[in-house]
Amino acid sequence: MSDQPQIRSHITHLECSLSGESCTHEVPTRLNPKNGKPYLARYDLTKAAETLTKESMPDRAPNMWRYREVMPVIDPANIVTLGEGFTPLRRAKRLGKHLGMSTLLIKDEGVNPTGSFKARGLSAAVSKALELGEMKLTMPSAGNAAGAMAAYAASAGMEAHVYMPKDAPMANQIECLAYGANLNLVDGFITDAGRISGEAAEEHGLFDVSTLKEPYRVEGKKTMGYEIVEQLGYEVPGVIIYPTGGGTGIVGIWKALGEMEQLGWIGSERPRMICVQAEGCSPLVDAYKAGKEFAEPFKNPSTLAAGMRVPAAVGDFLVIRAVRESGGTALTVTDDQMVQSVRDMSEYEGIFPAPEGGATLSALEKLLESGEVGRDERVVLLNTGSALKYLDVLGPALGL
Ligand SMILES: *Cc1c(COP(=O)(O)O)cnc(C)c1O
Repeated sequence: MSDQPQIRSHITHLECSLSGESCTHEVPTRLNPKNGKPYLARYDLTKAAETLTKESMPDRAPNMWRYREVMPVIDPANIVTLGEGFTPLRRAKRLGKHLGMSTLLIKDEGVNPTGSFKARGLSAAVSKALELGEMKLTMPSAGNAAGAMAAYAASAGMEAHVYMPKDAPMANQIECLAYGANLNLVDGFITDAGRISGEAAEEHGLFDVSTLKEPYRVEGKKTMGYEIVEQLGYEVPGVIIYPTGGGTGIVGIWKALGEMEQLGWIGSERPRMICVQAEGCSPLVDAYKAGKEFAEPFKNPSTLAAGMRVPAAVGDFLVIRAVRESGGTALTVTDDQMVQSVRDMSEYEGIFPAPEGGATLSALEKLLESGEVGRDERVVLLNTGSALKYLDVLGPALGL
């Protein structure tokens, strides 16, 4: 990381994502108490643009804090990092050829600390919590977020409490224990875990870092958008396919694109944002298809992709908006299709993707088939995690 004094955060305030009301970033904040909607961090992008230049990027550390001007942490001493981000954007030559495509790219988030892109969000949230003096964290998680929070909390010397559905992948349960978190298995869905975590927060004075209810995890995830653009030589791809649970990644990438336009990194062009969900848990796809702005909670969610087993998302309208504004679309894939895609991405590219990552390939195949994506378009698949965290569910699915 460069120690030049002028490189600093240019955060100015938080802004309600629905009403536009603003509030200070200087105290611990969660949802807007008036409407229950997420706050998003805003920056002085004119000032940020003075140092966050394309020319300065090659000299910066290869992790997500290279975009420090547009990250929320004021004092660099508060940055809790395990080296997350700046993951490879790999040209998938063999898989692309197999699909008859000219440019297929895979952003491989499986190489992040803790094996998923949740590291980005939790590095940002834990750092900002440290800055604001919150040393006891809690969170409901379908799996990977809990592991990431536990790891970053361990690194920062904080207390971590985790509420996880009892069918969460074994790796996530084990890593939380190893990182010294207080692990609570919940007989229910992520939404039930969310309720219990919220109650624990009230009762024991813990800070609940549920995604988008806490405003900074999305700041970590938005760095994927910065990286894709930087790695493409300051161009945007034609299409980004994203495996969507709560949708923080789509919201973050879309936010990053808007910021980069104001920074002068790109123009008004945008990739089409494609939201993929599992057939067994598709609240956002259903709302998108029904022409709605907000999603109904999905009943009896079921998919082996734990990261997409999210029946209700507080940022639903932000995901749906990004998809619509970008001219993208939303679609579902089945668990069987995901498993086949895990196999294909592994065999063709040497990338062993999480089922969620597999879902992006399944979606691409459907969109190529229907003609909604052209074979000559530049397409980015987000492989959000490593399959190594899903061995207990993938083993049987792959025939072991
Ligand atoms: C959490 C998670 C997702 C979903 O991410 P959101 O940004 O919350 O939609 C996708 N893939 C993996 C591996 C995850 O852990």
